[in-house]
Amino acid sequence: MGAQVGRVHDALRECGGENLHTSVLTSLDFNEVQEFVLRVVDAPIDDSRGACLTGYNVGDELKVVQFSTVNELNPLGWRHQEKTRPQWPHTYRFQVPKRSWQAMVVPDNSAGSQQVCLLQMAASPDERTRENAQFDVEDSKVAAVYAQRFNLHQQNTVAGMGMADPKDSAAVAATSTMDDETALIENGTFPTIKVAAPVACEVIASGYPSMVPVGAICTLAPYAEKRVQEYVFDGQSDEFSELPQAYFHYAAFTSGGKEYVCDIQGVEDDDGSFLIVDPCILKADLPGVRDLIGAVANVQSEPSKNGPTVERFDTLHPKCTQACRVFDPQRRSAMRNGKVGMCGMGACGLRFAK
Ligand SMILES: [Zn+2]
Repeated sequence: MGAQVGRVHDALRECGGENLHTSVLTSLDFNEVQEFVLRVVDAPIDDSRGACLTGYNVGDELKVVQFSTVNELNPLGWRHQEKTRPQWPHTYRFQVPKRSWQAMVVPDNSAGSQQVCLLQMAASPDERTRENAQFDVEDSKVAAVYAQRFNLHQQNTVAGMGMADPKDSAAVAATSTMDDETALIENGTFPTIKVAAPVACEVIASGYPSMVPVGAICTLAPYAEKRVQEYVFDGQSDEFSELPQAYFHYAAFTSGGKEYVCDIQGVEDDDGSFLIVDPCILKADLPGVRDLIGAVANVQSEPSKNGPTVERFDTLHPKCTQACRVFDPQRRSAMRNGKVGMCGMGACGLRFAK
């Protein structure tokens, strides 16, 4: 490995690690001698009740033995299209384009089995930082917590326990054991929402340094699907599906309108469960200075326009599902009475940042 890494460093100096040629990346396959190796640097998501986990831990070294572009994964990039970006906050998560590939990954010690993952990396070399990757991982972590609570709420509803108040399900989550809940959520008796939980990785050796330079930080998520469907994205290109829509409303409702899980995308399985990948968290609070892009970002002058507003909620969630009516019956009556938004009656617990 030492000599190989040495060659990698030499090649990296020559090319500067600048241009990313997806056409070349597509050509890599199992039989290529050259490959690249990752080391996991951040893996904070460990609760399988709302997430699908890679099983990788900080310090694990992983070999990428296959690497390919998949056109049907393109919706992952829609968030960063020129026409879309202006309506989102001026932060890394909403503004910095990423590249996405399907990657076959095996532990470098040959002790584990191979796994197909979604590998994502900022398109710009300057943005492939550990800090940015942590923003990616953190959003999935927040989305997974909402998914865990939503799944439990759904489970209790299906079980006829009458838990119409999300606070009740939160209390149950705090007192029951994880094993019990995992067994119930895993038994497949009701559909769930789960987030493909990413880990952040550093490239520690690369046979293709111009495309995947040593030192770059990427994310790996356990997403083996060859397609991505948008469920809650812009209200226009979305496929309206009950469970993701109810999950979106549930997260907004239980956060008191302070957080929206946006860009809900992924796949539905044969049982009606959804695996979502690379969701984004839209927060009422102004983004931290660390997360802002550039020193003159104009988001501070118009925080509410790009944040979790009632208007955005109505665009992303044009109608409620049966599941919504269990935890937020007021929205339906508020809309029937001609009031705007889900908090039109002022009784549903939602408070929006102005
Ligand atoms: Zn709803």
